[in-house]
Amino acid sequence: MIITITMNPSVDITYLTNTFKLGQLNRTKTPTINIGGKGINAGRAAALSGSDVTLTGFIGGKIGDLTQILLEEEKLFNIQMNQVSGETRHAVTIMHDEGKHTEIVEEGPKLDGTNIQELLEKVLHISKEKPVNAICICGSANSTDAFLFPKMIQYLKDNLEVEIPILVDISGEKLTCLLKDSSVTPDFIKPNEHELGDFVGKTITTKKEALEALHHSCFDGIKFVIASLGEQGAVCRINDVYYDVRIPKIEIKSTTGSGDATVGGFAYALEQNFDTKQMLKYAMACGMSNAQHEESGKICREDVLAFTQFIEVTAI
Ligand code: ATP
Repeated sequence: MIITITMNPSVDITYLTNTFKLGQLNRTKTPTINIGGKGINAGRAAALSGSDVTLTGFIGGKIGDLTQILLEEEKLFNIQMNQVSGETRHAVTIMHDEGKHTEIVEEGPKLDGTNIQELLEKVLHISKEKPVNAICICGSANSTDAFLFPKMIQYLKDNLEVEIPILVDISGEKLTCLLKDSSVTPDFIKPNEHELGDFVGKTITTKKEALEALHHSCFDGIKFVIASLGEQGAVCRINDVYYDVRIPKIEIKSTTGSGDATVGGFAYALEQNFDTKQMLKYAMACGMSNAQHEESGKICREDVLAFTQFIEVTAI
């Protein structure tokens, strides 16, 4: 089983309109509504791959109830979300003027120490009931504690009865706190080129630059580091061996959530005990397949398997 933790899920509402004018009435067709949050998206990709996935995290209020209902309708996961006070957030995207998009993202319910403790206890409880192959902690949290993620990872590592890989996909200050200022080591991280660049304080656009950044001592000890570079594929550091992952060019619809699908695909590949090259191919192919769907985390398993045939992984 794979457990994902989504600290701040969202009801994602996407409006499609030809033009968008500030300060005026804009009429649109009915928006598409999907449940988002990086852990949920990763869980979707893992579940569509064939994993038994349990979603954990927080939902709150009436919008939380809607989140629960819409997730149940997907019939993909076991849903074990904790209730928190406040309302689950909306994230509104307006697609307009041929390719532009404007986003309004709420901050979501504030989390306190008790909320976090209850969540961690639930994850421990679930992991005692069934063998768990990976725990994915993905996305942001509305918490002022910069050390929230290191503390959560440490607590899990100290209290899990068996060793379970902890996959982490976070960004910004929280990633920096985890990698630079804490002594705890996740098993997997997947920064994209911007997140990696922010972390090392350089602009990263090429694989050469990403490779150089992956040599940073802060990545020492992390078994799986995937620096994802969108249509360029990825550069990875796996057990201190560096890999170039080249992907074929494909038609795309929306790359939103491709990184999350990559994480979910990697969790599935870990569960299946794939070898390193197979794991990287499968994870990348999930990102590619997601890019061919409007919904975040959505993949088509047949396409994923077909893409893996055309992905090249070379040790550098
Ligand atoms: P997000 O934050 O939207 O989830 P990300 O920025 O974390 O995404 P990306 O590096 O954009 O992650 O994408 C992850 C993987 O998805 C890539 O390594 C690649 O395999 C696939 N992918 C992303 N964009 C494209 C694209 N334009 N064409 C083909 N594959 C893509």
